[in-house]
Amino acid sequence: MAVQVYEDIGHHITRIDTGMIHDELAACYLLEGGDEYAVIETGTHNTVPRILALLEERAIRRDQVSYVIPTHVHLDHAGGVGGLMEALPRATLLVHPRGARHMIDPSKLKAGATAVYGEKAFGEIYGDIIPVSEDRVRTMADGDEILVGSRRLVFFDTPGHARHHFCVYDPASRGIFTGDTFGLSYPVLTTAKGPFILPTTTPVQFDPSALKASIRKLLALAPERVYLTHYGRLDNPQPLGEQLLIMVDDFVALAEGVAACSDDDTLDGNLRRAMADYLLAAARSHGCTLAEEQLRTALGMDIQLNSQGLAVWLRSRHRAG
Ligand SMILES: [Zn+2]
Repeated sequence: MAVQVYEDIGHHITRIDTGMIHDELAACYLLEGGDEYAVIETGTHNTVPRILALLEERAIRRDQVSYVIPTHVHLDHAGGVGGLMEALPRATLLVHPRGARHMIDPSKLKAGATAVYGEKAFGEIYGDIIPVSEDRVRTMADGDEILVGSRRLVFFDTPGHARHHFCVYDPASRGIFTGDTFGLSYPVLTTAKGPFILPTTTPVQFDPSALKASIRKLLALAPERVYLTHYGRLDNPQPLGEQLLIMVDDFVALAEGVAACSDDDTLDGNLRRAMADYLLAAARSHGCTLAEEQLRTALGMDIQLNSQGLAVWLRSRHRAG
């Protein structure tokens, strides 16, 4: 099955598959506001040519893109920022106040990712990270607004997945670009019951109470749709948000339960097994009929990242307490 790299998803928004690791894993978006455009999320540095090819295909001049807007500075969202800004002469980078310095000097992001993945895999997955000149960066605080042409976008501070995370509300479509705040939902796991959604607790800033508050804040906007980075447009987000709130509580209970019967050496492995058991059972009860191996492939990376993030959270709480 060939996946569409570019898909018009309504309301003058195009979903772009970033091509990171495999299809339908990470998206970014081109939003049209009359003669001006914004790119929301960038994928990795390796995604930049795909975004530029779309502009070319649509006969959009590069100087018509006014804004580049990563929801937070994790590399699957912001890794392409520097390369894209280089190619878009008039664009301003809009970023969370806590993320700006990492876009201006990405050495820490690069060192962090290289430490986790190694030089070779870092190159393959992320390509590179290029700094952005400070005078092209504008930070967006809670409630700040911009116009893309005549189209208004409103920014909301949404910590919980990461402290450097905002979400972008688009009143024209009654939709929200949610980054990782409103969880993950892969098309391959959608069933007759609808999308299968799960929270992401990636290291190192997972904060369950902040995440729940942020999810509630998004639901309070009464959105009709959400645009997830992982992956795509979901309609009728209210019940999905309720589901996420339950699962954040479940993850906390799971983490505390595992911590109670683990020592420091066994904690990580036990968390990983418990997260795998939980997510696989949840997908099965959602009616997912993928073979065991495909299911583990679809959820494997998130089982790993979520359990690592919960371990970091448990240990930091332990230190704080
Ligand atoms: Zn993230």
